[in-house]
Amino acid sequence: MKLQEEQIIDQHIRLAKSGFAALKKVTGFSCCGCGLCVSICPLKSIAFDDVKKQPALSGKCNQCGLCYLGCPRSFLPLSKIDAQYFGTGAGEEQQRLGKFIDFFVSRSLTPGIYQEGTPGGTTTAIVHFMLENGAVDAALLTRGKHPEVRYCMHPLPYIATAPDEVLASAHSKFELSPVLSLLEELSGYERSLFVGTPCHIIAFRKLQLIGSDTFLRDKMPELAQIAEKLTARITFAISINCFLNHTSMDKAYAWLGIDEKDLLRFNENVSKDLYEKAFAAGKDWRWFFRNNYVSKDGTERDYDVNQLGVLVLPSGCLLCNNLIVSTQADASIGFYGAETGVKEVGWNTITIMNNDLKKIVDEMVAAGKLARKPVLRGFGRTLRICLEKLIPALDVMRVKEYLKTGSWAYPKPLKLAKGPRKTYILGLELLFLGQTIRKKFFYDGPLKALKKSGVFLPTVY
Ligand SMILES: Cc1cc2nc3c(=O)[nH]c(=O)nc-3n(C[C@H](O)[C@H](O)[C@H](O)COP(=O)(O)OP(=O)(O)OC[C@H]3O[C@@H](n4cnc5c(N)ncnc54)[C@H](O)[C@@H]3O)c2cc1C
Ligand code: SF4
Ligand code: SF4
Ligand code: SF4
Repeated sequence: MKLQEEQIIDQHIRLAKSGFAALKKVTGFSCCGCGLCVSICPLKSIAFDDVKKQPALSGKCNQCGLCYLGCPRSFLPLSKIDAQYFGTGAGEEQQRLGKFIDFFVSRSLTPGIYQEGTPGGTTTAIVHFMLENGAVDAALLTRGKHPEVRYCMHPLPYIATAPDEVLASAHSKFELSPVLSLLEELSGYERSLFVGTPCHIIAFRKLQLIGSDTFLRDKMPELAQIAEKLTARITFAISINCFLNHTSMDKAYAWLGIDEKDLLRFNENVSKDLYEKAFAAGKDWRWFFRNNYVSKDGTERDYDVNQLGVLVLPSGCLLCNNLIVSTQADASIGFYGAETGVKEVGWNTITIMNNDLKKIVDEMVAAGKLARKPVLRGFGRTLRICLEKLIPALDVMRVKEYLKTGSWAYPKPLKLAKGPRKTYILGLELLFLGQTIRKKFFYDGPLKALKKSGVFLPTVY
């Protein structure tokens, strides 16, 4: 292993000698838009291009190669990260969700937070509580760029230092957010946290590892120093779950012919009164899962999620080996698997991997800030297992075509998979099924095709 690791690292150190040109290999296909390279560059010569959702050289490059070596999509010592920070848990639940010490369904009990959250506001509630109680003094979050728009989905990373500033981050922005571009600013605070998607978490863990692992430190001493400085004071890395992301919501809105200002709902982002109305009209939890939008004038329209993918799928998401839930975060918060009944939405699942965070969350439950109930287990298990056996590893987006044309192909195999229409599979079984679809169609299949294509791919070991 040591020898193999040495060969891998030496090979990447050689590649890194071309400086930013080496990072350009990553941005060709693999970049996940995490923003970390912006924080790493010692000359501050990397800016994040918010249109392309990629880093761009904005100043002088001395070819130190640190941006490339620190990037999670050059090489990723995944097995070391898992061994150092978490280890593999026992049983199906821990193997799929990480080595959690607690796992339950939750939602905020603070009306203002619950109302704004997607769906239960657990993330906002936890960050708010931690700033209020001095557990941290800064939190790196993502808000909308347009505060006057209720569901602004144009992401803007920012640092909150007071509880009230956290509210601006509530609800999901369905576009890549370069959260880690503010890591250096965050490292100036004594105790801090950040919230990101699983790719932000894994990028951060790689950097933490470079700062602490003797072998990697010796190989990359300059990067190790930067890594230590950037990560030392960050106490918690919290993930929101993520299936896939988008490059541009503007493109999506243009295609749909809608204005963000007029939206009352876009997918999961939906006000609580709206789904109370939907339930009163006889709809159930499946409505929450629909790919649709609702405008202020009452228009409710389904749209073709496959077509949306064709327009705005970031290529780097297909190299994301996280299966919806982050197994390397201190906590990972989502909504798949949260519903325990069919006339019920507005809850999160939360897996907690960190003892200190668990204590804080327990305190919140005791203080009446967070509702907690068990995850629904075993509902539709046999059917889920049978379906999983039938799902092949397919390159549904046809990456080879993309490499030739720069456009995604319409994923026909997904035509039938329009989300849950019957409630035979619910709770944890639904989350597991989602993970399998994610893995087979959006990781295993594309990766197999990409390996044959000669495109630059991260080395994961
Ligand atoms: C692109 C995307 C895809 C997702 N796919 C799934 C899925 O398939 N299954 C699932 O269970 N959950 C998914 N989620 C997570 C889900 O939408 C909620 O974010 C999660 O359940 C937390 O809900 P909450 O009510 O606790 O969050 P809230 O209290 O509403 O807080 C939202 C938090 O998310 C952060 N945030 C918002 N947008 C972004 C972004 N683009 N990048 C980084 N951080 C962001 C904010 O900083 C804030 O801390 C996805 C989220 C995104 C952004
Ligand atoms: S980190 Fe080094 S190689 Fe990368 S852009 Fe900055 S100066 Fe150039
Ligand atoms: S994956 Fe992150 S660190 Fe790597 S090039 Fe993209 S934005 Fe930069
Ligand atoms: S799918 Fe993976 S790479 Fe894409 S935004 Fe989500 S966590 Fe990041």
